[in-house]
Amino acid sequence: MDKFAELNRAMIEQYAPRPGRRPLLPDLSDKARVALMCRMLFREGWNEHIAGHITYRLPNGTILTNPWELAWDELTASDILTLDSEGTIIDGEWNTTPAIGLHIQLHALRPDVNVVIHNHTRWSGIWANMHRVPAVYDQTGAHCGVDLPLYNEYEGTFENKTTSLSAAQALGTAKWALLANHGALVVGKDLRQAHLRVVTLEWRCKRAYEVELLGGGVPLPDEEVEKVGITDANGFPFCWEAMARRELRADPTIVD
Ligand SMILES: [Zn+2]
Repeated sequence: MDKFAELNRAMIEQYAPRPGRRPLLPDLSDKARVALMCRMLFREGWNEHIAGHITYRLPNGTILTNPWELAWDELTASDILTLDSEGTIIDGEWNTTPAIGLHIQLHALRPDVNVVIHNHTRWSGIWANMHRVPAVYDQTGAHCGVDLPLYNEYEGTFENKTTSLSAAQALGTAKWALLANHGALVVGKDLRQAHLRVVTLEWRCKRAYEVELLGGGVPLPDEEVEKVGITDANGFPFCWEAMARRELRADPTIVD
């Protein structure tokens, strides 16, 4: 275990739940968690109309995903589809887009990746269109490290299986990527880690946009970003729960 992983483990143990403390969230089904992720990420700017998918592979190999027909800010737990490992719908009343192929290929290529998220994104999409990787200017933009690949071999939409496979292979072992003239892609071992990566990416991109608009700033040195980036492994304790509670306060029917 490297020293950053050790620090992470120590931090989680230090803040383990204390007896009698109220739970951070009610018990949630896996489908409710996916529905909550859709609402949470919509708020972050992953909200291009009905574009985008979140896929969440369960321990039994089936995959939960949001339907094609519904926007991320309207769906609830009962709208979430169940797919087999090939992407065929085995439970649910809605459809998926052919673009789900990218997710299915990534899950197959990366046993470490149980969550794949793609959308045509508000702030990271600007940098993807510029074919530029933004600098990291502050701590919040540094939570997941500095390396951010730009995949710039645009060949069409991900409905084409060859295109999506080349994108999946180009991601390699990366945690995220800017997709030139398209949007962004984030993967993670679980929903918490994937959530932190999305919010960190959008924050980093929004901050860099604002700072450069005012004439430029002083980026954090890479070694400082890597120190802050220890939170990537644990998904930053309590952040997922706090953002999930925000959505549950706004619409308690999400879990239905
Ligand atoms: Zn797309």
